[in-house]
Amino acid sequence: MLTQRSTISRNRPLTVFEASTAPRISTRAVHGGTERRKPHHALTTPVYQTATFTFADTAELLEYVEGRSGPAREEYGRYGNPTLSAAERKIAALDGGDDAVLFASGMAAITSVLLASLPTGTHIIMTDDCYRRTRQFSETYLRRLGIETSVVPMGDYEAMEAAIQPGKTRFIVSESPTNPYLRVADLERIADIGRRYRIRTMIDSTFATPVNQRALEWGIDLVVHSATKYLAGHNDLLAGVVVGKGGFIQALRDARGVFGSVVDPQNAFLLERGLKTLALRVRQQNATAQAVAEFLEVHSKIERVWYPGLPSHPDHAIAVAQMNGFGGVVSFEVKGTREETSRFVDAMRIPYIAPSLGGVESLIEQPAIISYYDKSPEERAALGIKDNLVRFSVGIEDTEDILSDLEQALTVI
Ligand SMILES: *Cc1c(COP(=O)(O)O)cnc(C)c1O
Repeated sequence: MLTQRSTISRNRPLTVFEASTAPRISTRAVHGGTERRKPHHALTTPVYQTATFTFADTAELLEYVEGRSGPAREEYGRYGNPTLSAAERKIAALDGGDDAVLFASGMAAITSVLLASLPTGTHIIMTDDCYRRTRQFSETYLRRLGIETSVVPMGDYEAMEAAIQPGKTRFIVSESPTNPYLRVADLERIADIGRRYRIRTMIDSTFATPVNQRALEWGIDLVVHSATKYLAGHNDLLAGVVVGKGGFIQALRDARGVFGSVVDPQNAFLLERGLKTLALRVRQQNATAQAVAEFLEVHSKIERVWYPGLPSHPDHAIAVAQMNGFGGVVSFEVKGTREETSRFVDAMRIPYIAPSLGGVESLIEQPAIISYYDKSPEERAALGIKDNLVRFSVGIEDTEDILSDLEQALTVI
């Protein structure tokens, strides 16, 4: 009796909504990877708030350890949980990958890929203008393990190829668009270099989301997202995800079971819920960011705007060819000192001053203060972080209200 009740979906093949049924992104966001029939006929994914999974008797345990239980059988929370699997399948469907694996944060995802794949004595190539902690991880922690990193300028593919150490280079790691200058990598070119030299390519696509750019479709091997940002979308949880080919992702899931950086079921539920509105949110954020960029570019108090949707951006042409939208982050330089820039930031009424990006609430920050205050002005200049630089992550508030807010705040300088 108990056995019957506790094996709701065991041994029954999952009837999952296939992404191939719905090539369009909003339908994929709502239905992609979702099991059509859930326990108790629930429509939404249950939160399996459990640390472990039980076996009715030794015979059932033997069935499991001998690999006869089918795909829906779980063992222990660090190895898998149905709520996590639902979020993973949806992200795989959105990005067009075989499979995806969730981690406790974006950094856990990035560090786990590299730690799980790189033996001592190997080498990776990374583009500059990348997430500060990714670079810190490779230049500090990977170096200690005897894994070297070459950093090449974003957009210089000759330098990328020249940095390859035959037999030693195992990964090319890049981001697109980057933080904070929204540089866009030529994914086809990176994928081509990777293929020719048999080097794995990985793109941090956090700023793009699968709505605006699907790097796997351009031949990239692995896509990583900080799901904390647009994917979850509500500034209320931390998570990360890696998407790619089935075998590699399963190996990474096994590594997660050892490293332990698993996301908890409640956050996985919130992430899957947030994903359903991803396309709606991102399209609104694309539209507002474009309007903000155009408004600021002709404003007398603004020195320079960085937004790939503007023809003035160095990577506008690649962005147009490769992306379906240009994202919700606009970076710009105010005509003024660091203090004058801060006065403008403080005068903004809608955005919160905070790190992070991609949520429904607009966030604004001055990178020189929030991310690089520990550096001297000279070091900041060397990193290309100017004192008057502002990064604005637009939320889903009305475009007109955000434009009015910018207009009034710029009058204070
Ligand atoms: C935020 C971010 C990360 C790190 O993600 P966490 O979820 O904060 O660990 C990595 N890459 C990019 C581009 C990010 O914006």
